[in-house]
Amino acid sequence: MLIVIALGGNALLKRGEKLSIGTQEKNVRAAVKSIKNITKKHHAVVTFGNAPQVGNIMIQVESALGKAYPVPLHVAVAESEGEIGYLLVQALHNELKKPVVSILTQVIVDKNDAAFKNPTKPIGPYYSKKEMTILREKGYSMKKINGGYRRVVASPKPIKIIEAPVIKKLTSMNVIAIAAGGGGIPVYKKHGLHGIDAVIDKDLASACLAKSIGAQLLLILTDVPCAYINYGKKNQKELRKLSIKEAKKLLKEGHFPAGSMGPKIQASIEFAESGGKAIITNFASLKKAMKGKAGTIV
Ligand code: ADP
Ligand code: MG
Repeated sequence: MLIVIALGGNALLKRGEKLSIGTQEKNVRAAVKSIKNITKKHHAVVTFGNAPQVGNIMIQVESALGKAYPVPLHVAVAESEGEIGYLLVQALHNELKKPVVSILTQVIVDKNDAAFKNPTKPIGPYYSKKEMTILREKGYSMKKINGGYRRVVASPKPIKIIEAPVIKKLTSMNVIAIAAGGGGIPVYKKHGLHGIDAVIDKDLASACLAKSIGAQLLLILTDVPCAYINYGKKNQKELRKLSIKEAKKLLKEGHFPAGSMGPKIQASIEFAESGGKAIITNFASLKKAMKGKAGTIV
């Protein structure tokens, strides 16, 4: 079976944990131990989220202005693919006998995607009003969030994964490919490819990749055992098996917020519509979920 395993930012960096290479190494190793058996038995592509890391790179850029040359956001996404991809390759190499490679992945987006006119995805830290004004003058989109200010960037829809054929070929050779990290590097087409400043949602990019390489399973690993209706309320209820129709209905009813469970359900719907199966679960429930006894299956 060909499986796309999407590792959530929260699976690699637990909430409230201090961001450092040390913590990431520790979490990446634990993540790799959890997916070890699956990657042994099946052909696999591993994708991952990058919001904390790409935010961190942009802080380095901002605080070094005048001392080191600045890198634009699409280059920062590429750098984060390098950072996390490297840690994953090394951890997988240490656990498995299979070859592992990390692929810088470019993802085509529409330059006229409405997301560019209305940036919504927060990255990096909270800023004071004074700092916010300076950054806004520099041309950053800033939004008031929870009493502070954060930089927000566009999150356009992924259309096509440029490196999909290479990734498919690698999996057919039983190589584990790490790809589309952080949703992939956003590019648009105009007499060739060009980078564009945005951060693509990693769940949607993972579904796009899974479809284009003909995967049978999209495994979305996050920090909850499954999706729920009335999440966080007294009448919260586990969702185990969802048809495409049911998933669409619940999404429309607002059970899955944008920026967290929403894109996971949307990605699952899109992948299921192309004939695949999607499972949303966490590391602890993974074994049971693979047997259909846990997780949310679309
Ligand atoms: P990741 O880093 O894995 O992409 P996200 O924070 O984006 O993680 O999404 C997972 C989070 O979605 C969970 O930790 C949970 O708090 C939240 N969530 C929101 N709505 C739901 C829901 N209906 N069912 C389950 N989790 C939900
Ligand atoms: Mg997420």
